[in-house]
Amino acid sequence: MSSKTIFSQILSGEIPCDEVYSDEICLAFKDINPQAPVHILVIPRKELSSMREAQKEDQELLGHLLLVSSKVAKQQGLRDWRTVINTGEGSGQVVFHLHLHIIGGRALTWPPG
Ligand code: AMP
Repeated sequence: MSSKTIFSQILSGEIPCDEVYSDEICLAFKDINPQAPVHILVIPRKELSSMREAQKEDQELLGHLLLVSSKVAKQQGLRDWRTVINTGEGSGQVVFHLHLHIIGGRALTWPPG
């Protein structure tokens, strides 16, 4: 699978993003097509297509992404939010670079569609 996803291009600076958080492991930026008042994506700098490819060696990375998602959600003023990781086309994944959606700022129904 090509590593040149749109998120790889954001990480390399080829494509701009509306950044809200950055560190040596990950980047967080506003989703270009927000599904709620707050819709942020957290992506690892490491090339990882999806959770399907995640390995034991990624344990620390995955924990970091979750903690960053919580930090960013709170920085955005959220008390309640949903963290979503789509895995595979059947789940709605369209960008094959692992990413966490942080969605909040409105009432969220359950179950999701
Ligand atoms: P998924 O469907 O889980 O693969 O989510 C991909 C997300 O990336 C969608 O919510 C898109 O709106 C978002 N997206 C695609 N291109 C960009 C971009 N250039 N900047 C910010 N978000 C993007």
